[in-house]
Amino acid sequence: MLRFEHVSKMYKNGKTAVDDLSFEFEQGEFICFIGPSGCGKTTTMKMINRLIEPTKGSIYINGENVMEKDPVQLRREIGYVIQQIGLFPHMTIRQNISLVPKLLKWPEEKRRARAAELLNLVNMTPDYLDKYPHELSGGQQQRIGVLRALAADQPLILMDEPFGALDPITRDALQEEFKKLQRRLGKTIVFVTHDMDEALKLADRIVIMRDGRIVQCDTPDEILRNPADDFVEEFIGKDRLIQARPNIQTVEQIMNPSPITITGDRTLTDAIQLMKQNRVDSLLVVDDQKILKGYVDVEIIDQKRRKARLVNDVLETEFTVAKDTLVRDTIRVILKKGVKYVPVTDHEHR
Ligand code: ADP
Ligand code: MG
Repeated sequence: MLRFEHVSKMYKNGKTAVDDLSFEFEQGEFICFIGPSGCGKTTTMKMINRLIEPTKGSIYINGENVMEKDPVQLRREIGYVIQQIGLFPHMTIRQNISLVPKLLKWPEEKRRARAAELLNLVNMTPDYLDKYPHELSGGQQQRIGVLRALAADQPLILMDEPFGALDPITRDALQEEFKKLQRRLGKTIVFVTHDMDEALKLADRIVIMRDGRIVQCDTPDEILRNPADDFVEEFIGKDRLIQARPNIQTVEQIMNPSPITITGDRTLTDAIQLMKQNRVDSLLVVDDQKILKGYVDVEIIDQKRRKARLVNDVLETEFTVAKDTLVRDTIRVILKKGVKYVPVTDHEHR
């Protein structure tokens, strides 16, 4: 449905806002672009409807290169909502919603029916159709902004922080409403936000951007389970990671039970024995400097995990971690000489 092939954008001042972006989205997917301010989200979005021209690369919608389409025509084929709603103050709500259908020369009757149908979808009564924007609250105006983008029934909708200016309660309500609406209508939505909760709530897939590049593109679950690197982990925030996975603990929490010290060379069999004796299902290896080292099949959320490799079904990795690094509770250890083993009690035993 939507494909970027090595797309870059360098502004006239030499700033590379988007750097070699490639991705592909399916029809009906809800995609959230997220990243810190200035990472290139808006630039990416505006290249889709040619409000900005890429410096390099190609963008395809349903296999058609957008550069080969007439920009005005293209923009009529794509819904677009931004934070500054931009309802026309001198037009009624009906006229605002019907803007694109009118440009597309839909007959009057069809336009009226569509406006009424849409208003009903967001639980607003038909009498609003003849009101003017200033007679509506901020949340209601934003709803109308969203409806306007849906009005012509385009299969692709671009939304650039559409709920960013709303108070949290209105935003929550609109997010819920909008997600339901999208499920029903089957639109492909490209949604920009800098709010991780919003992305996690809405998206089928989340694209995390940094400095014009994609750091990770995955489902919300996968992103919570396997953040690609420290940046993503930090961006998600430890609280959300812990919340998403009740099994997760920090190293400090794991080290809380009193450590058992063992000296000498040890084998995996010894380790398993030790775990059984202590009725624990996981162990951490800690040397005297309190630096964790070992050969473990850990799922530590740490970029160094990526350097790990599988040896005899055991993920072999050597790593150092900070005390507040998050660790899943299933850790097996092949013992190393002269190290201290800190048992981790099974949650069920606690
Ligand atoms: P985001 O939407 O993620 O906040 P933008 O796409 O708006 O990011 O901007 C990406 C980068 O490009 C920023 O560093 C921004 O300052 C720069 N930028 C955006 N628009 C222009 C422009 N018209 N000219 C020069 N630089 C720009
Ligand atoms: Mg932006």
